[in-house]
Amino acid sequence: ALVTRLGPSPTGFVHVGGIYVATIDQDVARRSGGRYLVRVEDTDQSREVEGALEQFERGFRYFRLAADEDIERGGDYGPYRQSARERIYLTYVRDLLRQGKAYLDFATKEELAAITQRQQATKLPTGYYGSWAIWRDADPADVQAKLDAGAPYVVRFRAPENATDTGARARFTDAIRGPLEAEANRNDVVILKSSDQSPRLPTYHFAHAVDDHLMRVNLVIRGDEWISSVPVHQQLFDALGFEPITYAHIAPLMKQEGGSKRKLSKRKDPEASVDFFIEAGYPADAVLYYLRGLANGRLAEMPLEQALTEPINLDECGVAGPLVDLVKLDDIAADHIATLSGAEILDAVRDWAGQFDPELRRVLDEEPDLALRALAVEREGAENPRKDLKKWSEFRAVYGFFFPQLHAAVTGPDDERIAALGVDRAVVQAVARDFAAGYRQLDDGQEWFEQIRAVAAKHGFARNAKEFKKNPEGFPGSIREASQIIRIALTGSTRSPDLHAITQALGQDEVLARIAALTK
Ligand code: GLU
Repeated sequence: ALVTRLGPSPTGFVHVGGIYVATIDQDVARRSGGRYLVRVEDTDQSREVEGALEQFERGFRYFRLAADEDIERGGDYGPYRQSARERIYLTYVRDLLRQGKAYLDFATKEELAAITQRQQATKLPTGYYGSWAIWRDADPADVQAKLDAGAPYVVRFRAPENATDTGARARFTDAIRGPLEAEANRNDVVILKSSDQSPRLPTYHFAHAVDDHLMRVNLVIRGDEWISSVPVHQQLFDALGFEPITYAHIAPLMKQEGGSKRKLSKRKDPEASVDFFIEAGYPADAVLYYLRGLANGRLAEMPLEQALTEPINLDECGVAGPLVDLVKLDDIAADHIATLSGAEILDAVRDWAGQFDPELRRVLDEEPDLALRALAVEREGAENPRKDLKKWSEFRAVYGFFFPQLHAAVTGPDDERIAALGVDRAVVQAVARDFAAGYRQLDDGQEWFEQIRAVAAKHGFARNAKEFKKNPEGFPGSIREASQIIRIALTGSTRSPDLHAITQALGQDEVLARIAALTK
């Protein structure tokens, strides 16, 4: 069974890449009968943001990526927050110090800068290693003197001697990339941050080793920016006496910019943020389906329902980062929404509106039946259900006109639209009056339409566009213009789904009220 984990840092921004990796973590772990856990990596307290955890929770709830073990749910391997694990890290640091596998380093910023400068001047690899590491083999008396003077220090890992020999190699097998080889680590990396800070927190390298070992994680799926750190992580696991761990380094989500690809950027791309998808109201399933397809191209070829339950295979993940294309996602989302029932859509829109559009939420709560009738238009029972929504935030613009409370605000005044038809205003009013006078809300669409035909004939409209075109001066318009008068009055638009179906949803009283507005 595989135990995977995600290590989000609470910086107030949940990157969509986190959802992407969490999807993979969850899938791989559950499928193996294992566990997927979330550990808050808050060792960089300067970057921490108020409310970041709530934001994180919200994103992961939306995408149903809740962990089996985390801060909220707890678990047997906590605490699941690094800042609460200070004593655990210190125990292991002391252990390494006692064994001489770590040492106190009092080098100042200036000294470190000077070392780098000299290394650069002589074209040597930069870093704190070998004989450059001034405190690596310091005299214990010097160390004591510094301690007595209260000088601040960090704790560094003593890279194994053999790693500094030229030609030493690190080897490991990545679950995505296969066998890899790199230069062995020679740097004495910092494992415990400066003693003048409180709490005393470990660096990423050290926390990764200690936490993933103690939390019995056996598969670390993480961003490929960490691939170059594997050699030092291997040394740390070894020095700590831990079993080595398997890594899967995931290529980052990319964005097309002009002719080139670059990483999806928190600074430049709104869609880098999970909140972007939640605020727009993309259905979680559509986004998950899209992300799964990016991970394993095979899944993008399957229908959504199937792709959501088929396994994600690590060895099918690409080594190059996949492109995030919102146009593609929009298509997927529209296709997906078209498969839902009106009731399912209404539920989702209500949830969304509860957070982002309180007025819409109120209206939907007041008029649930009207909402269902509106959503049924060219959807329920239709051979090709409408693909009129890509995300819940579009509901107001597309369906708002159905609701008396929203109609005017959504569509604006009809005058210009009516004027653009080119039908004399007095004729428009007469058509409206006569249409209303005998109006009946008939079930049969053909019969219903006869009411428009009759009024159009009475006012001398041409029977079809062709007839009208031949003699534009001879008619006030054609049957097309006559229907458009009714359409604009009812929907506030010159384009809409089937008019008869719309009147069925609105009901006779509302139809008459909207037609009456034309005669004013
Ligand atoms: N907190 C680390 C990050 O945000 C986690 C990396 C990892 O998964 O090991 O980059």
